[in-house]
Amino acid sequence: MSINKLLPYSSALEMIEKVANQHSINLNQTCELGNSTSRLLAEDIFSPINVPSFNNSAMDGFAVQTHIVNQAIEKSGKITLKVSGSIQAGDCQDINAGSEHLAWEIMTGAPVPNLFDGVIQIENVSINEVDGNKTITLTEPVQKGRNIRKLGTDYKTNEIVAYKHAIIQSQHIMALATVGIKKINVIKKVRIAILSTGNELAKKSSTSLNSGKIFNSNQPFLKAYSQNLNCDPVFVGRCNDTIEAFNALIDDALEEKVKIIFSTGAVSMGKFDFIPQALLARGAKIHFHKAKIRPGKPILFAELPNGVIYFGLPGNPIAAAAGMRFFVSPFIRQMLGLPQEKRLKAQVMADISKKKGFRTFAKALAFVNNSGKLCVEMLMDQGSYQSCSFAQSNCWLILPEESENIKKGELIDVAPMIPNLMVL
Ligand code: AMP
Ligand code: MG
Repeated sequence: MSINKLLPYSSALEMIEKVANQHSINLNQTCELGNSTSRLLAEDIFSPINVPSFNNSAMDGFAVQTHIVNQAIEKSGKITLKVSGSIQAGDCQDINAGSEHLAWEIMTGAPVPNLFDGVIQIENVSINEVDGNKTITLTEPVQKGRNIRKLGTDYKTNEIVAYKHAIIQSQHIMALATVGIKKINVIKKVRIAILSTGNELAKKSSTSLNSGKIFNSNQPFLKAYSQNLNCDPVFVGRCNDTIEAFNALIDDALEEKVKIIFSTGAVSMGKFDFIPQALLARGAKIHFHKAKIRPGKPILFAELPNGVIYFGLPGNPIAAAAGMRFFVSPFIRQMLGLPQEKRLKAQVMADISKKKGFRTFAKALAFVNNSGKLCVEMLMDQGSYQSCSFAQSNCWLILPEESENIKKGELIDVAPMIPNLMVL
């Protein structure tokens, strides 16, 4: 493939997926459940137990035998029962409730004794206590099973609790803890290196700018963003725009035993855009350079001779962000064996015009309107250097190549800022 030809996005994506398949990794590690927030579950997890593991009361009240109560109430309109004792949450579940026992005082979560099949709430009985002997009087029938949480009605043994590839969130942690899981197998993070090119980048510690300098925003962005993609990032530094300085950083990155290197800058057409040349000189294979997209056209995707993947992202921050979202994210998903994302569609709020032939990723704000429809507003200030509008966006609007004008009300693909890695 000629290096300087603009590749359509779909072909770039095909290449990304093909290369990712050749680099698929399947490394897991165990993780304490309590430390597993945001980790990717490596396998389906099934419940080792029934939950509840014993019938227990859903209310504070009295456990009764419903047939006795209901027969009496049908006959004479009420029944008074001797209360045999009190059962608390945490009490042993094997209470011997012989036939002489007619009612047990019972607390929420306490085991319901055998033969007892209904719990009447404390507020629905009148209680009488004489010389320590408690009785209750009921005037309404009690439905069989009332206020009893039956064994296995949350989880049955071997029922699925969490699916492989779920991003562990607090709701999964609750469910897994409920069935007694203490450790889980998660997909190992992918070790990646980030480096920044550009004479104009101020030193990391700089708090003010000398003439002609800018703060490095790509590096912290890439670090933060890659963490959403199950990556473990290391920043190897910034370099001036020389091949020697760049090569030194690549060597540092390789020493870190990373799987992927991300750089920003130095991939477009300028005099100091040396990365393609530097990579070729190192024996790298350039899978593609430049895609028919906006922003981020100069994106470069390569592979070093030792198999380390290289993403050369453009220097403009929004172009780098689009590269992470629409090239790197699908690569990592494929590499980890995750299914590719499904796109959401939203109604655009105004007419949009764009350059024909380019897949265009626009900073946008999605919201649900009063009729419950997902709508999307393309933000002003679409410049690839403009981070202010990016900070105000909550999604990307994905405008198709073929259109030049999109009409208000059309349904257009949107992508959340952070890819939804969830399968279910
Ligand atoms: P380049 O792709 O190297 O031509 O850079 C394109 C634009 O992105 C230039 O305006 C750079 O100053 C800017 N840029 C490059 N690297 C960074 C960075 N790490 N943080 C913020 N802006 C950058
Ligand atoms: Mg540059």
